[in-house]
Amino acid sequence: ATPTSIMVGTGRAAELGVLFRKGDALQALQGARVVAFDKTGTLTEGKPRLTDVALAPGADRATVLRLAAGAEAGSEHPIARAITSAAPGAAAETFEALPGKGIMARVEGRDILIGAPRLMDENDVIYSDLETEYRALAGQGKTPVIVAVDGVAKAVLAVSDPIKPSAVKAVQRLHQMGLKVAMITGDAQGTADAIAAQIGIDQVTAGVLPAGKIDAVKSLGRDVVFVGDGINDAPALAAAGVGIAIGTGTDVAIEAADVVLISGDPMGVVTALQISRQVLRNIK
Ligand code: ADP
Ligand code: MG
Repeated sequence: ATPTSIMVGTGRAAELGVLFRKGDALQALQGARVVAFDKTGTLTEGKPRLTDVALAPGADRATVLRLAAGAEAGSEHPIARAITSAAPGAAAETFEALPGKGIMARVEGRDILIGAPRLMDENDVIYSDLETEYRALAGQGKTPVIVAVDGVAKAVLAVSDPIKPSAVKAVQRLHQMGLKVAMITGDAQGTADAIAAQIGIDQVTAGVLPAGKIDAVKSLGRDVVFVGDGINDAPALAAAGVGIAIGTGTDVAIEAADVVLISGDPMGVVTALQISRQVLRNIK
């Protein structure tokens, strides 16, 4: 494409809320075959609410919620915000975030672990009493986390994050344009599969740690567009053929991306691809 047609294309995109930070991204998009989306905050609103509290035998609901909310107060993860806004928490004495796994804290003199089964396995916490609940909640597309107090699993808390209204339409359009659509998430496989089925996603990679998102992007081939919003997504945004950041997401993601969707609407991905195709057609 000529410099002029690229300028016209990026100008038109900007009017539609799609900012090209690099002009060559407009050309790179023309070769795209696969679009991979992060889940939380990208395809979903990223504002989950606490929807379920399933207790282990003998556990006290108010105590579990107080300890959990106290432990999560130091975390900026959307899961943490859902838990802290649902219950008043005790002050935490210590706190540590374990990215992609959960958190570890000391509250009221007790050791609290909250997170994925992987975190429980690593700390020899047995949660077999809660496994059926965990799977059922994940099957509903919710994100379950296990709460352990002094090494004993006490509850599964589930948070539910609504799918963005235009996500289904965006995926339909991408399919019509001949693209394959994937999802790459740190969330549990069961949750990811349920959400993917609701949106019409072709391929799911779940349970990946932040570094694993890069491998997942690379495994989809060279002409991959990756769309994400989180600090976790920045390495994958930089590694993709074209990285598209959600404008309502973190600054780190925006800085790593080639294109920014101002409103955070996934339909912006369709707009970016359409404009890139128009620019190519105009110069033929
Ligand atoms: P995503 O890619 O969907 O944004 P993350 O990589 O941030 O997911 O987190 C992966 C998993 O780690 C979560 O599904 C959850 O099980 C656990 N986790 C992460 N942060 C927290 C937290 N603050 N509290 C509880 N669990 C957490
Ligand atoms: Mg995210």
